Amino acid sequence: MDLKLNYFLKRSSANGPGIRAVIWTQGCLQNCPGCCNPQTHPMHQGYRMSVTKLMQEIMRLGSDIEGITISGGEPFLQAEALNCLLLEIKQTTLLSVLIFSGYEKTLLDTVPLYRACLKNTDVLISGPYQKDVQPDYNQFCASGNQKLFLLSSRYQKEDFNNLMTNEIFIQENGTIIMSGLGRIEGIQ
Ligand code: SF4
Repeated sequence: MDLKLNYFLKRSSANGPGIRAVIWTQGCLQNCPGCCNPQTHPMHQGYRMSVTKLMQEIMRLGSDIEGITISGGEPFLQAEALNCLLLEIKQTTLLSVLIFSGYEKTLLDTVPLYRACLKNTDVLISGPYQKDVQPDYNQFCASGNQKLFLLSSRYQKEDFNNLMTNEIFIQENGTIIMSGLGRIEGIQ
């Protein structure tokens, strides 16, 4: 089974507690004004990677990372493959899983496949980005309408206070990668 990805970042300090690998899924239909990841919206862009290959990439990182953050795009648009990936992560590693979703948790709770995904998720940050609502960095939310849900005992709310919210990488090929919660003025 394949996931359609926008990007896979092997090490990040600005996408949740500790050092994490980050998977940006491709495709989102919400079109939130001010979204900082518009390149992840078109369903026809991105690239495919099998869950098996993605797991191989994750396993190669070994103890370099504390967990996986899955963002987008909207990860739950690919819920079947997402569920397979989450099962694999939880059955074969001790990595934590944090998911950002533009869907409200009340909606996610109504769909059996979404609920199955959440069973193997430690932390959910849910709700659409609203550019006119101030960020809530104590809950690691880019806009304060979003909500942090601790779905396992892996983390406490305090673990999300004052985390790094932005980072910039320059790759070997010169590509500049920005990641994290906050918008960086002057750079798009
Ligand atoms: S749900 Fe997330 S990725 Fe989709 S438009 Fe809103 S902020 Fe952007």
